[in-house]
Amino acid sequence: MSGIFKKIIDGEIPSYKVAEDDRYYAFLDINPLAKGHTLAVPKVVVDYLFDLDAETYSGLFAFIKKVSAALKSSTACKSVGLMVYGLDVPHAHVHLVPLKGIGNELNFSNPRISLTPDEFKITADSIYKEFIKL
Ligand code: AMP
Repeated sequence: MSGIFKKIIDGEIPSYKVAEDDRYYAFLDINPLAKGHTLAVPKVVVDYLFDLDAETYSGLFAFIKKVSAALKSSTACKSVGLMVYGLDVPHAHVHLVPLKGIGNELNFSNPRISLTPDEFKITADSIYKEFIKL
């Protein structure tokens, strides 16, 4: 799957965008644990999150602070969980998952939810609307 997130950033592969600035991009995970499950990536291609230079790394966390606020405003969640997995796609990324507070929600062994393309689009657009207010 090498290069897939770079292709998403460049618009060569479609994605459900929830946030973007000049250095970072966030989009809905196509196989979500919860509605609004988002992946946030730096536009620079580095495989492993913890290999990012310090400035890009801290910038990513400033970016996801805003994305998380947008997620919290637009989804009926209690909190937003943050997870670093990175075992499938070699492009640094973090998972942001809206949580209901019922426990065991940040577990990739859990069944994924299925959403229609319309539901993905509506969810992404509502998060994006909140993001651009910040
Ligand atoms: P990991 O690298 O283990 O953090 O997992 C990669 C994540 O990327 C998985 O949760 C996938 O569902 C997600 N993913 C893979 N391809 C796409 C895509 N084209 N659009 C959105 N999410 C994707």
